Amino acid sequence: MFPLIKEIFGFVPGNAVSVRGWVRTKREMKNLVFVEVNDGSCFNGIQCTFNREDSLTAETENALGLISTGTAVIIRGTLAESPASGQKVEVRSDGIEIVGAAPTETYPLQKKKHSLEFLREIAHLRPRTNTFGAVARVRNRLAIAVHEFFQSNGFQYIHTPIITGSDAEGAGAMFQVTTLDMEGLAKSGKAPDYSKDFFGKWTGLTVTGQLEAEAYAQALTRVYTFGPTFRAENSNTVRHLAEFWMIEPEAAFASLEDNMALAEDFLKYLFNAVLKDCAADLGFFDAHIEKGIIGTLELVANSKFGHMTYTQAITELEKGGPFEFKPYWGCDIQTEHEKFLAEKVVKGPVIVTDYPKEIKAFYMKQNNDGKTVRAMDVLVPRLGEIIGGSEREEDLGKLEKRITEIGLNKADYEWYLDLRRFGTVPHSGFGLGFERLIQYVTGMVNIRDVIPFPRAPGQAAY
Ligand code: ATP
Ligand code: MN
Repeated sequence: MFPLIKEIFGFVPGNAVSVRGWVRTKREMKNLVFVEVNDGSCFNGIQCTFNREDSLTAETENALGLISTGTAVIIRGTLAESPASGQKVEVRSDGIEIVGAAPTETYPLQKKKHSLEFLREIAHLRPRTNTFGAVARVRNRLAIAVHEFFQSNGFQYIHTPIITGSDAEGAGAMFQVTTLDMEGLAKSGKAPDYSKDFFGKWTGLTVTGQLEAEAYAQALTRVYTFGPTFRAENSNTVRHLAEFWMIEPEAAFASLEDNMALAEDFLKYLFNAVLKDCAADLGFFDAHIEKGIIGTLELVANSKFGHMTYTQAITELEKGGPFEFKPYWGCDIQTEHEKFLAEKVVKGPVIVTDYPKEIKAFYMKQNNDGKTVRAMDVLVPRLGEIIGGSEREEDLGKLEKRITEIGLNKADYEWYLDLRRFGTVPHSGFGLGFERLIQYVTGMVNIRDVIPFPRAPGQAAY
């Protein structure tokens, strides 16, 4: 394959090069024409300089007249040290070939600054902008860092089902998957008979892979899932998507303390990876999207995470405020509370543990006090909760009792209960929403801007 622009930047001046990419800008100054070409391989485009004193060919002159923002080109020339500030090298160019035109009158992306709202309407073209190119590269780096981290710590990657027959803990509203003739049923007024449906039962898109991951953790010891997750929640917020990606590690013979240490090491690994490998992209986010973002990532990467129990957190919150929701023991900690704890109380990341069992899922390990469970939320400045997890209840009797207590249908969980019947062990895990992570790292306010083609209520174009 031909070299990418990020590779060309590393070549020795004097080398003959050809640059392939899309024109960002064209400027003319006296006898010089400057064409900036970007190929998305790195933040910066490369400057290609044409000098009319070098007697350009008629074809080159003609092509230079035709190109505009968005034109796909191949430019040939020699790499040279650049006299301009902000770039070490440029291409002294003598040939240009137009591969694909992008007429100025109709091409929606012009040199001016476009609003994120406008760009959301043209999600197929927005990766060509600085912002969305940078988001895509950071997303890529983080995805690979997730695998690097788990693979180097003995976790095996497993694929949990996307179509599922279990309503996993009611983590969120599910999308239905069916091949029944819904129109026909509606006309006939009959209720759907799911035993006649494709799978012979009601099925939906998964809201979490955790329960299935637990099954594999009790065989492979350490596993993780990293895949698409769906929630049919009609919440039009800047933090919720209908389709998002979730990372869920699960480890056997692991306590809540092990889980907390894992979450801390994991976040630090991810932030260090982007700080090191996406410096130019982060520089852009820091300058244009959210001031101070690099500092916050460095803070998290370099600090020892604080620890406190839910009960201690409530005591701190009762002293603090004012809050929109008044905190009390037993309440679900709100985002404003989470931010307060991380930003004002601990002044850094903090892990809150041992939440009231009523506000947490049925599978969390019960403490001896009869009131709290071994849950943990990792809270970070500027966002609040970034990770939620727990030690799981490994005791069959306690788990059965809890399932009945909160009115779940025990029959649906028989396979899950088997995991406690046969070779049960203490085990722990957590979930990290991948897009929330990218929002945190980039400072992008709207979650719809950190996934290429967002799915949200009323929005499924492309
Ligand atoms: P929230 O309170 O923000 O709705 P949740 O309590 O429903 O989150 P969990 O069920 O614990 O979230 O899911 C695990 C993680 O998945 C969350 O910490 C979050 O990072 C992410 N997440 C949950 N729902 C969504 C969504 N609709 N879009 C994007 N990410 C989500
Ligand atoms: Mn939710």
